[in-house]
Amino acid sequence: MNTDLFSLQGRTALVTGASSGLGNHFARVLADAGARVVVGARRVERLESLVNDIQAAGGEAHAVAMDVTDGDSVTAAFESAEAVFGHVDVLVNNAGVADPKWFVDIDEASWDFMMDTNLKGVWRVARECCRRLIDAGKPGAVVNLSSVLGLGVQGMQSHYSASKAAVAHMTHAMASELWRYGIRVNALAPGYFKTEINADFFDSEKGQQYVKRIPPRRLGTLDELTGPLLLLASDASSYMSGVVLPVDGGHLWGSL
Ligand code: NAD
Repeated sequence: MNTDLFSLQGRTALVTGASSGLGNHFARVLADAGARVVVGARRVERLESLVNDIQAAGGEAHAVAMDVTDGDSVTAAFESAEAVFGHVDVLVNNAGVADPKWFVDIDEASWDFMMDTNLKGVWRVARECCRRLIDAGKPGAVVNLSSVLGLGVQGMQSHYSASKAAVAHMTHAMASELWRYGIRVNALAPGYFKTEINADFFDSEKGQQYVKRIPPRRLGTLDELTGPLLLLASDASSYMSGVVLPVDGGHLWGSL
C-alpha cells in the first residue's frame, strides 16, 4: 500500500487569500505535506508570520501580493511564484468575501463586489494557473472554495449563495474540459467554520442558536478540513475530478 498517497513532495502550491482563516490553515497543511507554498493576499505584511512559521517548521514558503479582482496582480503573482519555486501545480482558490444582506437590499455595488471576488476571482486565478500548466505540458490539481451555501440557501446570503453555486458548477465544467491536460478540478464546500468572515455572527446570540441546527451542534474546526483538502490536492484523488465535496457535519442533510 502506498502510504505517501497524500504527499505533495516536489509540488508547488498557491493559496489565495492566505492571510487569514481557512487559507492560512491550508497553506500550513500543504507545506506540512511537502509542497513549496506560495501564499497570496492583498496585504503582504499580513503573510510574514505565516511564511516564518512554515519556514521554522522546515517548510518552504514565499509571499506574493495578489488581489484576485485585478488581472495584472494575478499575473504578477504567478510570475513571482514561478521565479522562486517553478510552476504552480496545486492551486487552492480560497479568497472570498461575504456581505450579508436581505435580497431586496442588495445594491449593484454589493452584487458586483461579491461576484467579482467569489466567482470572477476564482475564474481569473484558475485560468492563469491552467494556461501556464498547459503551456508547460504539466499536470495539476485545482481546489476551488465553494460552500454549503452553494448547494443550499440561508437568509441574507442570496448573492453569496449564487456566487458559490456558480463556483460549484464552474468546477464541473472546468473538470470536463481540463482532464485532457491532466488537470483535475474539484471543490470543497465547507459548512461553518469560525473565521473573520463570520465571527461576528457566531459570537452573537443568534449565531449560537443557529449552531444548534448543525447535527454535531458545533462549528467545524480547521483541522477537520485538513484531510478533505489533502485528498483533493494530492494524487490520492487521481481518479476524481468535478467533485464538490461538502465538509459540513452533515448539515446539508440535517432533519427538516
Ligand atoms: P476569511 O475572511 O478569514 O478569509 C478570506 C480571505 O480572502 C481573507 O484573507 C481576505 O483578505 C481574502 N480576500 C478577499 N478578497 C480578496 C481579494 N480581492 N484578493 C485577494 N484576497 C482576498 O474567511 P474564510 O472563512 O477563511 O474564507 C475562505 C474561503 O472559504 C472563502 O472563499 C469563503 O467563502 C469560504 N467558506 C468559508 C466558510 C466558513 O465557514 N468560514 C464556509 C464555506 C466557505
